[in-house]
Amino acid sequence: AFSGRDLRKTYVTGATEVHALRGVDFDIRKGEILVLLGPSGSGKSTWLNIVGGLDRPTAGTLHYADTELTALNERELTRFRRAQIGFIFQFYNLIPSLTAEENVRLVTDIAENPMEPEEALARVGLAERRHHFPAQLSGGEQQRVAVARAIAKQPGVLLCDEPTGALDSQTGVRVLETLEAANRELETTLLIITHNAGIAAMADRVFHFLDGQIARIESNSSKIKPAEISW
Ligand code: ATP
Ligand code: MG
Repeated sequence: AFSGRDLRKTYVTGATEVHALRGVDFDIRKGEILVLLGPSGSGKSTWLNIVGGLDRPTAGTLHYADTELTALNERELTRFRRAQIGFIFQFYNLIPSLTAEENVRLVTDIAENPMEPEEALARVGLAERRHHFPAQLSGGEQQRVAVARAIAKQPGVLLCDEPTGALDSQTGVRVLETLEAANRELETTLLIITHNAGIAAMADRVFHFLDGQIARIESNSSKIKPAEISW
């Protein structure tokens, strides 16, 4: 799906420069599950935001299939992001004044090839909760609504930045199961940042970030189901 060459990102804040990405190269296959591990500050979120078109690198090239993302203007990049990318963050970012179904509908109303909000909620096991407001749902249920919202537009790629970071392990498993189902049934490429090394066991590959670089890429020939992850 993606390929990146010598991607760099330097943040300049006043007189301070932070080299968040120091030249990373990678290829990501369509339909793979990729987990990103690494210490705090090693550049994982910076990398994910650039891959998802939320931010731009300081240097280097990035392709998605035949499209060079680093050559697109702002409008074209926004269109790419809307069509191809679903985002899931640690904090669910649901709109509190809208029901679960209305939160999902916000996305399906502007997507090119959406599924019905009700189907998306059914896929994460929340069809019966569709008229509930976020405050009436548990943390894990809210995150599953966020997954439903992300998959409803049928993106090619789901980018997940610590999707289980705020959840206990059992609740986290249920969220990971919904992500894994999207990968299996919709062939969605999954890129998952986590601090939980156990989650790496469900990946096809693991990128180990260290100090702004991908220090090591690990292939996993015997990946397991979320329910078998040891936290
Ligand atoms: P964590 O596991 O804590 O989320 P991370 O691997 O996701 O860490 P990044 O958020 O990518 O790390 O940050 C990489 C480096 O870039 C850090 O040193 C951080 O302080 C810096 N950084 C990140 N975002 C910005 C920003 N918007 N402006 C300036 N510096 C930033
Ligand atoms: Mg981060």
